[in-house]
Amino acid sequence: MTRVLVVEDEPQLVRALEINLRARKYEVDSAPDGETALRLAAARRPDVVLLDLGLPDMDGTEVIKGLRGWTRVPILVVSARRTSDEKVEALDAGADDYVTKPFSMDELLARLRAASRRTATATPTDESVIVTTEDFTVDLLAKKVKRDGCDVRLTPTEWHLLEILIQNRGRLVTQKHLLQEVWGPTYGTQANYLRVYMAQLRRKLEADPSHPRYLITAPGMGYRFEM
Ligand code: CA
Repeated sequence: MTRVLVVEDEPQLVRALEINLRARKYEVDSAPDGETALRLAAARRPDVVLLDLGLPDMDGTEVIKGLRGWTRVPILVVSARRTSDEKVEALDAGADDYVTKPFSMDELLARLRAASRRTATATPTDESVIVTTEDFTVDLLAKKVKRDGCDVRLTPTEWHLLEILIQNRGRLVTQKHLLQEVWGPTYGTQANYLRVYMAQLRRKLEADPSHPRYLITAPGMGYRFEM
């Protein structure tokens, strides 16, 4: 059973989340503030954390930093905050993904499943070295991509980007992180590089590059590999 820690100070939303999550066989603990959240996380060892950024006692980003001091538990941020800066700050602090309020329960559950899957495959096994989608296969060890039985040729830059996104599948990776990993520490703001290379990757991998299914853009924030 997957155990979820819901960190949220709006009682009605907590109630709605508890009902929906329990109906889908999740085990739910809830915390109305950051201090309770950090205490419950240590005591109950959740498999995934749903975290509101606007908490009464501390900023949600502080909760992320507190958790990241000792655990890699997936953190899905749920918040009404809309500026990209705040979302990027939460992601850079170590959150895995972001859902903006108001959200649909279906969207939240899909993100939650993706986040929990990521932990399940986080340990390197044969299964996680070869990633198979309906349209292509990526062998992370051999550094090969196949589509319809043929090798897809990727440039070293395209490969590096794809590799990072796949290693973080289900997780939103910020533009800054991708740029610094692939191009180097001084390239954190060249978002146009990413747009060019992501378009190339989509042309090579996606059945419909203008409506990508795997290489998803989160406008102004980053990219996510979905399966
Ligand atoms: Ca709140």
